[in-house]
Amino acid sequence: MPAPFDRFTAAPPHRHMAATPPLRHSAMPAGQAQNLLNLKQFLKELELLVMPVECPGCGLHDVELCGECAQWLSGPLRRVEQQVPRLDDLSDNPLLPVWAVGEYTGPARGLVVSWKDRGREDLTTVFRKAAVTQLRHHRQSYLFPIVDAIVPMPSSGKSLRHRGRDHLAPVAKAVAAELQVPVVRVLSKRARRDQVGLSARARGEAVIRLRRSGKRLAPGRRVLLFDDVVTTGATLAAARDALGTQGCEVVGALVLAATPPRVKVEAVNSLQMLRTGHGENVSGWV
Ligand SMILES: [Zn+2]
Repeated sequence: MPAPFDRFTAAPPHRHMAATPPLRHSAMPAGQAQNLLNLKQFLKELELLVMPVECPGCGLHDVELCGECAQWLSGPLRRVEQQVPRLDDLSDNPLLPVWAVGEYTGPARGLVVSWKDRGREDLTTVFRKAAVTQLRHHRQSYLFPIVDAIVPMPSSGKSLRHRGRDHLAPVAKAVAAELQVPVVRVLSKRARRDQVGLSARARGEAVIRLRRSGKRLAPGRRVLLFDDVVTTGATLAAARDALGTQGCEVVGALVLAATPPRVKVEAVNSLQMLRTGHGENVSGWV
């Protein structure tokens, strides 16, 4: 099968084949192709003027993601369960292993927020590549649990309507493909209604439950939870409890970013203030 013809960069093939009759419409004269190229360049520059793009990590203009900020997701995959304070308080199970692609602070926080809630859907590729690459490298050197399915942490209906998309879905799919297992959506999330007698912290937390309809996981299945950000770990713990009632074993969680311990957040903020002259209000534990 011949290589696909790129009309913008390659010379039309028939120009080198004198015996072949000229094609009527598929080839584009070189001058016309150049004009089209100029037009595309012009439109790109116009787009930057009308809708200026900037690096979500540092605000550098006219760059979708600068090299320095991209480094925050360059790995390696890290175990973070020791810095997730509420991971084990809903059950007597041992601490759940949690692997994180990056830290939810500094430029990485800007990346996640822009991707989730500020319309930077293009960053899906960045997170997908980072998660798959780091997971692959990690599994080449370290033990990783045997997994039968990826269960993404659910977004609430309100969040899905607000974003207009399930931002986690394409990344979960890529991670599952890397592990050669299916993505199974069995969890739902909703705001807590009965708040009597709960602490302020618990009132703010959502309820994670098994979906009443749809796919089910057979008892004994080994599950890897998948989420964008882990802060307290309460929702991961709730997911493990919910799946446990179905007889599934949650063997760990993979997250794109983990909130670091408060002391580290403050150190990163101070460093950023020194570099940029202004700080970012990054919360630590909540
Ligand atoms: Zn940047």
